[in-house]
Amino acid sequence: MATSHFSTQPYPLRVPNLIGGKFVESKSLTFIDVINPATQEVVSQVPLTTNEEFKAAVAAAKKAYPSWRNTPITKRQRVMLKFQELIRRDMDKLALNVTTEQGKTLKDAQGDVFRGLEVVEHACGMATLQMGEYVSNVSHGIDTFSIREPLGVCAGICPFNFPAMIPLWMFPVAVTCGNTFILKPSEKDPGASMLLAELAMEAGLPEGVLNIVHGAHDTVNAICDHDDIKAISFVGSNVAGMHIYARATAKGKRVQSNMGAKNHAVVMPDASVDATINALIAAGFGAAGQRCMALSTVVFVGGSKPWESITVERAKALKVNAGTEPDADLGPVISIQAKERIHRLIQSGFESGARLLLDGRSIVVPGYESGNFIGPTILADVSSNMECYKEEIFGPVLLLMEADSLKEAINIVNGNKYFVNNYPASFAFVKLLLISYSDFCNRYGNGATIFTRSGVAARKFQTEIEAGQVGINVPIPVPLPFFSFTGNKASFAGDLNFYGKAGVNFYTQIKTVTQNWKDSDSEDKINMAMPTSQKS
Ligand code: NAD
Repeated sequence: MATSHFSTQPYPLRVPNLIGGKFVESKSLTFIDVINPATQEVVSQVPLTTNEEFKAAVAAAKKAYPSWRNTPITKRQRVMLKFQELIRRDMDKLALNVTTEQGKTLKDAQGDVFRGLEVVEHACGMATLQMGEYVSNVSHGIDTFSIREPLGVCAGICPFNFPAMIPLWMFPVAVTCGNTFILKPSEKDPGASMLLAELAMEAGLPEGVLNIVHGAHDTVNAICDHDDIKAISFVGSNVAGMHIYARATAKGKRVQSNMGAKNHAVVMPDASVDATINALIAAGFGAAGQRCMALSTVVFVGGSKPWESITVERAKALKVNAGTEPDADLGPVISIQAKERIHRLIQSGFESGARLLLDGRSIVVPGYESGNFIGPTILADVSSNMECYKEEIFGPVLLLMEADSLKEAINIVNGNKYFVNNYPASFAFVKLLLISYSDFCNRYGNGATIFTRSGVAARKFQTEIEAGQVGINVPIPVPLPFFSFTGNKASFAGDLNFYGKAGVNFYTQIKTVTQNWKDSDSEDKINMAMPTSQKS
């Protein structure tokens, strides 16, 4: 295992910026504590990168761009080949870092890294992915072909919930296309990004191709505003995502913004009981419900009663513990504030008339008494006007609803509204933007799944459901990177999705070349009319 460049610093570790190939400690006077959510220990301190440091990072990326874009694609691919090998070598170290800073179990942390690794593997085939098109003899002696070219300096802004996977959704595709990159990890868990950057450089990524800056709103706004940044990839909440989309597109940048979700499962009466319950439990409570594709709501067609006791029984059997403990099924949520918010939403559901079948709020984990733990919680008889339904809970809480028919269930799923009332006053403009967006865009559309044995029901669901990622007896239908991550409606803003062909298209622009190589170059007269193919 390679020694970490930045983990040799004295404790508490001050997370450095990465500028022009060097890990440099920030001169900022303000640092945010990165806290282990299972223990409240300060793992490290992340700076609010200064404006000078930010500008230096963009300048380094700009400087590295001409040489990197002219580096043969085969060589860029080979860097990714080596990178994926090094990620495998350091898997345990990466997973431990994810668990320490984010809280998820070690096994789940490996899944976090593996899902990102799949994107790196996909980037190894970039030459094929960005092949252009060629039409010979569009007119006499004239051919036209298209080339995909990189954009320049691109940037990525990450959320806390997948500290390894989401940076790996971004920079490997961007840099293999020939761009240079500014990455801003989540200020809550920057460690995995730092480790990955070290590995990318060990794999041969030249200085300045990948740079890392830290911070929160100010750094994000600086990214949106900087003229030399051409495209921004964002993953996170709707408040931040719509703000970034509005601010950066107003500056003429490309933006792809993956945002919040409310993913539903529809359970038909004919669904296989064991497999369905196991899938609901894993997708509802895994990672303590902090996945953008977590199944947070289940609509039982024909009523939830026959399913309730077995769901509660299996949820109760889950072991809540620190992610480093081998028996843990789910770890803590990210922060004390997140825990309080989830508690409040559970209480509001209960007070609005939902039945609290399982209440995980009073859980205490021996040895980790100060951790942000919430046990699996289940609310039944939830209706779509309840706050706990309208808000993305992002915790280990499963909401049970009922429908009389598949049609009614589909209407519930398609009608789920993105809640815009919880915006801070300073985001009034973003709120206005969302409200004035069409009603369609105010509804989440990340994922939805049906559990059934009926092909007819599955086909109806697949056709009529509006979510962008549909599962049929598959709880978390996130496609592998040869497809794209295809959330839609209020869960996505932009035109080109993450990874897959769309991801390559996002990080490149098309140039067409029309060439004239005739046998004879004699043109005996000047033709002033618009050239067309009609008379050739
Ligand atoms: P977040 O929006 O709070 O933070 C994401 C990033 O944006 C961070 O880097 C943060 O520094 C920055 N940021 C936060 N608020 C900002 C603001 N007001 N102005 C400018 N920058 C701001 O999100 P989070 O809590 O870290 O992550 C959880 C959210 O991410 C959930 O809503 C989840 O659904 C979503 N998510 C979506 C996907 C997807 O693919 N659709 C994947 C993962 C997570």
